[in-house]
Amino acid sequence: MLLAIQLLSVLAHSIFATIQGGPDMLSRRALFRAAATTMVFAAPRLAAAQAVGPYALPALPYAFDANEPHIDAMTMQIHHDRHHAAYVANLNGAVKDYPQLATLAPDALIARLAEIPETIRSVVRNSGGGHANHTMFWQIMGGKGGNPSGTLAAAIERDLGGFEAFKASFNRSGAGVFGSGWVFVTVSREGKLALAPRSNQDTPLMDGGRVLLGNDMWEHAYYLKYQNRRPDYLTAWWNVLDWSKIAARYDQAMAGTLGV
Ligand code: MN
Repeated sequence: MLLAIQLLSVLAHSIFATIQGGPDMLSRRALFRAAATTMVFAAPRLAAAQAVGPYALPALPYAFDANEPHIDAMTMQIHHDRHHAAYVANLNGAVKDYPQLATLAPDALIARLAEIPETIRSVVRNSGGGHANHTMFWQIMGGKGGNPSGTLAAAIERDLGGFEAFKASFNRSGAGVFGSGWVFVTVSREGKLALAPRSNQDTPLMDGGRVLLGNDMWEHAYYLKYQNRRPDYLTAWWNVLDWSKIAARYDQAMAGTLGV
């Protein structure tokens, strides 16, 4: 009640001052201009404060529920907005005193771990790997599954024994990752494919290789929906792949333009 009376009092005074004009109104205009100026100049500072480093969390290229029912929306949201965001934040924190490292693209950075100062090497390995792996991971999902086609299907036939045999061996490899890790398919410049499981956030990018696709074997990727049933998650995951995106990555690998 007291607050309401105070507000009315301020309003009444304001109306009175507007009718009267004079110095009081001028000061209000000056105050308003000052406030507007502060807002205009405050906005970029706020944006700069949020972007604390050279590496940025890429937007998820589809809605959180795009992979339902195989991957639930809450898992996607937590995975992208919190887990991946934390890898980016930790990576930025690690390189903040090394501007020469911060100019490198994520794949170039983690391909040179041996040259990274020892004090930040493990953070760059884990968080740089995490950033690269998840950036790839979001790109290849959001689809409707189905089968690969064209030159990629032929390469799967040639190098991985055909699509059905490939899925079976990929799932076995994923189920066999002890603890947390990934199972990847690498692609050479010549287009040759190979299975490549890794622990933690390690990636074939660290060995100078290229990744065609990969699935996240960390429990945070599936635990809300699948709990301990990792094989069920592995089986369901094929239903959300976007083979047109993966085929584009395959072409980029052979053109030498594939990044993470
Ligand atoms: Mn993950």
